[in-house]
Amino acid sequence: MTYFKDLTPYGYLARDEPLAPKPLNVGWLSSQMPFEKGDTSQEFKDKLLKFCSDEFIVLIARGFHICEFCDLSSEQWFEEQKDKDGKKAHWASIGDGEIRVRGKLAVYAAPALIHHYVAQHQYRPPDEFIEAVLTGEPESKEQRELLRKYS
Ligand SMILES: [Zn+2]
Repeated sequence: MTYFKDLTPYGYLARDEPLAPKPLNVGWLSSQMPFEKGDTSQEFKDKLLKFCSDEFIVLIARGFHICEFCDLSSEQWFEEQKDKDGKKAHWASIGDGEIRVRGKLAVYAAPALIHHYVAQHQYRPPDEFIEAVLTGEPESKEQRELLRKYS
């Protein structure tokens, strides 16, 4: 998967990105690059998984992304992951599509696999993203308006 440093301007599917200014990258990890590790609360993980539910995923189209830290073949990855996070989080489980989270300072763009990185590999996203997830609400009017721009 493509690596981007946390909090740099989004550029992955830049052509398909409707927001201006561009959202900020979070969680585009690579096994080639070190990343921030640390504990995050269960509350954060649960809320993050909600943001990663199928109904809130944008820009799906690229097959799936195998986690570079799990060391599995594509077949193993797919078999192990497909419904791992529940039936409503298919894309988050296999790693396809992206999420958008509105924070106080910016909108954040993360791969759907970010929940897996946090839950399985102790990735600790920047504080401002954690705060945006904890204070945000995927069902809110603001969030729905934001996501509508991607349809
Ligand atoms: Zn993994």
